[in-house]
Amino acid sequence: MLLIDHLDQLYIVPGPAPRAGSRQGDHRPIQDGAIVCDDDGIIVATGMTSDVLEWLARDRLQPSERIDGRGRSLVPGFVDAHTHVVFAGDRRTELQRRLAGETYAEIAASGGGILSTVRSTRAATEDELATETKVRLAEMLASGTTTCEVKSGYGLETETELRMLRVIGRLNEEQPIDLVPTFLGAHEVPPEYRGRQRDYVALVIDEMLPRAAPLAAWCDVFCDEGFFTVDEARTVLDAGRRAGLRPRIHADELSASGGAQLAADVGARSADHLVHTGDAGIAALARGNVIATLLPCAVFYLKLGRFAAARDMIRSGVPVALATDINPGGGLSPSMPFAMTLACFGMGLTFEEALAGATLNAACSLDRHGTAGSLEPGKPFDAVLVAGPATNLLRANASSIVAVFKRGHLAHQQADL
Ligand SMILES: [Zn+2]
Repeated sequence: MLLIDHLDQLYIVPGPAPRAGSRQGDHRPIQDGAIVCDDDGIIVATGMTSDVLEWLARDRLQPSERIDGRGRSLVPGFVDAHTHVVFAGDRRTELQRRLAGETYAEIAASGGGILSTVRSTRAATEDELATETKVRLAEMLASGTTTCEVKSGYGLETETELRMLRVIGRLNEEQPIDLVPTFLGAHEVPPEYRGRQRDYVALVIDEMLPRAAPLAAWCDVFCDEGFFTVDEARTVLDAGRRAGLRPRIHADELSASGGAQLAADVGARSADHLVHTGDAGIAALARGNVIATLLPCAVFYLKLGRFAAARDMIRSGVPVALATDINPGGGLSPSMPFAMTLACFGMGLTFEEALAGATLNAACSLDRHGTAGSLEPGKPFDAVLVAGPATNLLRANASSIVAVFKRGHLAHQQADL
């Protein structure tokens, strides 16, 4: 049994999930808080330190481990609701070229861009993919992520898509972060299908989906100008649903493509990016109970010049979740605190709104709100111990995170406890 007491701030981020509208940010920390989890890593008590200590004494319970929370804060472990963390190959040199002014199209024309990742990922063995990905997952864990979604989508042919999904399943067992697998065969049209987009959609539906379905929980599609049309995306998501995969969608990142409306039409749990989603799209999301998963790091690193209209979404009652979009191109940061920072300073969210977006709402977007995203009794103790007030997460300072707990175990430690 683990007790952390005298926390300056204890953020529970309680349900019911998702937190929408005024509820998105309408939660406050417990001052001088305490939390107890049992030997199975399940939270059994939270509250003011005095109340929790009284309860322990009354039931003659003696925690085997006690951490002094003075000068520290505790928040739920972060749930990263949109990642492309499984890939092979290194595109870091492209970054300097982009910063020196080369366009994405110029880099792609010289053999870089997403298709270079596809080549490397197709060539990688399952072991190589797992080894490379583990390094990145460890960085995410150190940044406070305890659950994350992971997509396929760099194979764009059946065997590699399946290999990516197998790697996700394997890494789910081999490292602490809980991984939620998503099939994204319709990420991009591979070079061998250029000009035959319809044939590629048929390959995704007829050949990939039936074999991918047992390895995934969700089906995603990149619905945007230059990628897959609304009709194609609908066909893929409908087929995914028939195969048992719930729909989520890359929508309106590069243009107002109708993706938000489609998400509502097909009953998607989450629509992601939404940079160009306007009032009609937001109204559709609200009507369809779709969670808006926003990826401000993608906006920042791709220099898209505008963030999603998060305030309008919250005002309209659309629950906002956050994610890093970590990927081999413009998704440079594995850090949910950085996504929260951009959500606050780029999209105008309050700290509490961003925190709910990075925890409970993100968990809900993955249908994991029963077991992740808040520090409520009955849930696994997945948590981030922060030096000082919880807002120190916004300082882009690695030493702000003192420790990360996964199911009651110390999964990452920065400073002495
Ligand atoms: Zn993505």
